[in-house]
Amino acid sequence: MKLGIVGLPNVGKSTLFNALTKAGAEAANYPFCTIEPNVGIVPVPDERLDVLAKMYNPEKVTPTTIEFVDIAGLVKGASKGEGLGNKFLSHIREVDAIVHVVRCFEDSDIVHVDGSISPVRDIETIETELILADLEVMERRVEKTRKMLKSGDKKYKIELDVYERILKTLEEGKTVRSMDFDQDEKKIADELFLITSKPVLYAANVSEEDISSEKDNALLKELSDYSNKEGSEVMTVCAKIEEEIAQLDEGEREEFLKGLGLSESGLSKLIKKSYRLLGLISFLTAGPKEVRAWTISEGLKAPQAAGKIHSDFERGFIRAEVISFEELVECGSYNAAKEKGLVRSEGKDYVIKDGDVVLFRFNV
Ligand code: GDP
Repeated sequence: MKLGIVGLPNVGKSTLFNALTKAGAEAANYPFCTIEPNVGIVPVPDERLDVLAKMYNPEKVTPTTIEFVDIAGLVKGASKGEGLGNKFLSHIREVDAIVHVVRCFEDSDIVHVDGSISPVRDIETIETELILADLEVMERRVEKTRKMLKSGDKKYKIELDVYERILKTLEEGKTVRSMDFDQDEKKIADELFLITSKPVLYAANVSEEDISSEKDNALLKELSDYSNKEGSEVMTVCAKIEEEIAQLDEGEREEFLKGLGLSESGLSKLIKKSYRLLGLISFLTAGPKEVRAWTISEGLKAPQAAGKIHSDFERGFIRAEVISFEELVECGSYNAAKEKGLVRSEGKDYVIKDGDVVLFRFNV
């Protein structure tokens, strides 16, 4: 599961990406935090792990991670091959969700490619390129499917209907994300891997002054109106401050945030929101050796979740002992929870929930 960071040049993408990977490198000690210069594996902050660590005193604590890709080079005309356009569009095709960084900070030293600060115009500039890229794919697809249908293969009728609707939407300059599909149609649409169907989180990069004041910001208002229309989410972040915070150690970080009147860093919020954007949840395992968070897609059943730990766990799955994090904390210890009968024994049809603390029983 990968998130792509996109946006026009000079909006703060790299600043944010560097902060993400730097904070990650320190927090989790990942040896390969930066796989390539523009790909970073970032630990997902989870306060529940700290609580469990106090309870279990484990040898190690392992957070789960997500991957961010800094996709630079998107400019007006990218879909026509301007700049390094097409290469970057192909990078965006490979990600599962998009963090779209939008410049909301004024700084006369930093040139805006279009001369002024206007978040919605900026979004539309990028969206237009992405829509054009999808349009090209869909024109070819529709043409090909029409031909196949003509040659008598009726099974393409349903596909063609969906394809044509998508094509029309793109021609109107709208994203696939903004369309309504029923379950079957959605399956067809998902198989196209279109860029504008990917979920988006808008990260409004605001100035150092605006981050701690909740004052009415006209630009932000404009941005949230825009994103509400397509059902996306907006969050504010100040890339510059996050870059500074990422260089501090834990104690200093807390002080710094307190000074700004913030309870949590923007990065931490961004990572958590990105995680949810991908439809991911975490279950937890806890013992004297390790306290750990594991990533699964929402809706996964116990055996498949077990398979994330080891394929043997899935193959030999017998049952899962499950308790919610909250209940466990309330009881104070696993044994106390067991005595109270709060540790449930769940079978192969149990759907794992976010924050479940799980012990799998399996045959080897
Ligand atoms: P990118 O082209 O989108 O990757 O943008 P960069 O991250 O390279 O940022 C462009 C310039 O804007 C750099 O000089 C950053 O230091 C500056 N910058 C980024 N975020 C902020 C911010 O929140 N406030 C201010 N004042 N400058 C910022």
